Amino acid sequence: MHNSIIVDVKGLRKRYGSFNAVNGVFFQVEKGEIFGLLGPNGAGKTTTIEMLVGLRKPDEGTATLAGFDVKTEVNKVKEVIGVQLQSTSLFELLKVEEILKLYGSFYPSHVNIDELIGDMLLTEKRNDRIKGLSGGQKQRLAIALALIHDPDIVFLDEPTTGLDPQARRTLWDIVLRLKERGKTIILSTHYMDEAHVLCDRVGIMDQGELIALDTPANLVKKLQSASTVEFHLSNPPEREWFLKMEGVKEVSIKDTFVQLYTDDLQSALTSLIQASEEHHFKIEDLQTRFATLEDVFIHMTGRSIRES
Ligand code: ATP
Repeated sequence: MHNSIIVDVKGLRKRYGSFNAVNGVFFQVEKGEIFGLLGPNGAGKTTTIEMLVGLRKPDEGTATLAGFDVKTEVNKVKEVIGVQLQSTSLFELLKVEEILKLYGSFYPSHVNIDELIGDMLLTEKRNDRIKGLSGGQKQRLAIALALIHDPDIVFLDEPTTGLDPQARRTLWDIVLRLKERGKTIILSTHYMDEAHVLCDRVGIMDQGELIALDTPANLVKKLQSASTVEFHLSNPPEREWFLKMEGVKEVSIKDTFVQLYTDDLQSALTSLIQASEEHHFKIEDLQTRFATLEDVFIHMTGRSIRES
């Protein structure tokens, strides 16, 4: 095993009846990385994480965390991992500091609770009952609980789902600070921007399969269409018509909304303007933007991650 590989997943599979929720996934994570599992609802991200943290038994495949086998060395695995799941339910009537002390008492040793409360930006809330906390504060408390025994590997299952933009950014900062302190982080998300900002590498999951795995930058680069030109047209012609234009590599049309993918933005724009003059098209809301992970998902599956 390579020295810096801390998570090694080989062919994990989980079936529910005849349905393959996770269909044989392979990946490795290096120590200190933030690794993202990105995919739409139902892609199999949570099931993958639950198999790794010992909550579900894989039907096939193996995985090791810090060298310990998730099937046969569950107690060792629990010492080296911290887990924040979507379903984490907190004792609503306890106070922030009380629950942290309680969780700390479950372990032979635990981190300094004052520091942990400070790191999670909960100092002002330490004597408040959990039921009065905001969504973001609850989520930060759930992460604090996952960190109480100073684990090497931290699992975060959709940590920012349902949070407002400000609370999401605060959480991103916290995750990045965990990385700075040497933690290895595996997180799942269906937010493209989150994967782009946080993750060193991203595995894109769809229907139980890992369909791509690379750095966000490389995933976008492999599209070979660095930019997208988007606009509305009241009566757009067929896709093929746009594909004949210079510089246009791929086209997607939904009602009046047209997206042209290109790696030569200048040519694509020039031919679009010429064509619109010749044919008296009335182009509206024209925008150009760099390709994103969302475009990678559309290219690979033909669907948008949000409508899946
Ligand atoms: P989400 O973001 O909604 O949690 P996900 O990518 O994490 O999505 P999973 O929760 O892993 O997806 O679910 C994968 C698939 O397995 C889904 O189609 C789900 O309905 C199905 N599934 C999950 N748990 C069970 C179960 N206990 N019995 C039957 N099917 C299940």
